Amino acid sequence: MSAYRTLTAADAVDYARRYAGLSDAETLINAEEVGDGNLNLVFKILDGQGVSRVVVKQALPYVRCVGESWPLTLDRARIEAETLLAHGRYCPQHTVRVLHHNAGLAVMIQEDLSSMAIWRRELAYGRYYPQAARQLGEYLARTLFHTSDFYQHPHEKKAEVGRFSNPEMCQITEDLFFTDPYGSHDRNSYEPALDEAVASLQSDSDLKLAVAALKHRFLTKAEALLHGDIHTGSIFVAEDRLKVIDAEFGYYGPIGFDIGTAIGNLLLNYCGLPGLLGPPEAATGREQRLQDIGELWQAFAGRFRTLAAENTRDPALAESGYAGYFLRQVWTDALGYCGTELIRRTIGLAHVADLDTVTDAAMRHKCQHHALKLGKMLIMSAPHIDDAAALMACIRQGG
Ligand code: ADP
Ligand code: MG
Ligand code: MG
Ligand code: MG
Repeated sequence: MSAYRTLTAADAVDYARRYAGLSDAETLINAEEVGDGNLNLVFKILDGQGVSRVVVKQALPYVRCVGESWPLTLDRARIEAETLLAHGRYCPQHTVRVLHHNAGLAVMIQEDLSSMAIWRRELAYGRYYPQAARQLGEYLARTLFHTSDFYQHPHEKKAEVGRFSNPEMCQITEDLFFTDPYGSHDRNSYEPALDEAVASLQSDSDLKLAVAALKHRFLTKAEALLHGDIHTGSIFVAEDRLKVIDAEFGYYGPIGFDIGTAIGNLLLNYCGLPGLLGPPEAATGREQRLQDIGELWQAFAGRFRTLAAENTRDPALAESGYAGYFLRQVWTDALGYCGTELIRRTIGLAHVADLDTVTDAAMRHKCQHHALKLGKMLIMSAPHIDDAAALMACIRQGG
C-alpha cells in the first residue's frame, strides 16, 4: 500500500498515465482541478487536444471547505471506491466506472463524465430530463436489493456490514441531518429572516421525537449498502443516460434514507423554482418535479418487487406479500428522511443552490420557509401518507 501524499496536478497526470489502463496513456499531458464539493480533490486529466479522458479523485485528510481544523478519515476513499464497485456490479449502466483505486493514497481513477451534466444545475435552469427519475429509481432498486438480506447470504451480508463500516462519515450525517438543526449549533447557518421559523422547529418536541426515531433507525437499520449521499449534485444526466458518483458516505443503512435523500433534493428544487425561473417556467418545472418523484418511486418499487419475486434467496423473506410489506416501511422511512433533508439543507451546514442562489431576498426566504414547512409536514405525517398520490396531494396543498 502506498504512503499517503497529496497529489499535485502533475502527479495526477503521472498517476493516470500509469494506472488508468489507457492504451494511449502517453497522450495525457495536463490536469485541471475541478473539485467543487466540500471534501476532496478532483482532477480532470486532459490529452493534447484538451479533452478530458479520465478523472482522478483524492481524499484530503480534512474537510476541504472547513480546513485542517476538521480532520477526516482517508478511509472514505476506499469506502467510496468499494461502494461504487459493488453498485457497479449490480447496476453498471447507472454507476460511474472505477478504473483503479489505491487505499493508501486515498485515490481513485474514474471514467470521465464531462459530456454529461450535473442534475442539480440542470434543474436550476429548468431543463427537463424525462428519463432521469426512472433511471435513478432503477439504480436504487438494483443496488439496494442486491446488497440486502433478500439477496445476500446472511454470512456474506454480515461481513459486508463490517467492510463498509464508515463511522466518521456516518457521524457527519448523524450530526448534520438529525442533531444540529434541532438545537442551537455553530454549524447551523441561516439568515435572520428564518429565526422565528427555526425557533419554532427547535421547540417542537413532537417533531424532535420523530427525528430521534429517524436518527435511531439510521444508526441501527443495516438493510442494504446505501450510496449515503444521493443528492442531485451526485448525479450526472444526459438525454438518455444517468450516472451516479460520489459514494464516500456508503454504509449499510435503512433503504429509505437513500430514497428520501433523492426525493428530498427533487423537492428542494420544487421549493426553489419560483425564485429561479419566471412564473410559467417555474409552474412547468414544479409539475415535472412531482412527476419525477412519482416516477422515481414507481420505478424503484416496481423493480424491487420484480427482483424480490425472481431473485430472493432467503426462503422466509421470499414469502408471498413480504416484499410489498417491506416496501411499505421503506416508503414511510423515505418520507421522514426526505423531511430531514429539506430541513438540514435549509438551516444546517451544507446548503443547496436550488434555494441559496435565489437572488431576491424576500423570494429566497419564502422558498426557504416553504422547504422548512414541507420538511416538518413530511416528518410528522410520514406514517399517514399512504402512497405517491397522497404525497402529491400534500405537496400541492403547500406542505
Ligand atoms: P466531492 O466528494 O468532493 O463532493 P465529487 O465526486 O462530487 O467530489 O466531485 C466534485 C465535482 O467534480 C463534481 O461535481 C463534478 O463537477 C466533477 N466530477 C466528479 N467526478 C467526475 C467525473 N467522473 N467526470 C467528470 N466530472 C466529475
Ligand atoms: Mg460531491
Ligand atoms: Mg460540472
Ligand atoms: Mg463527496
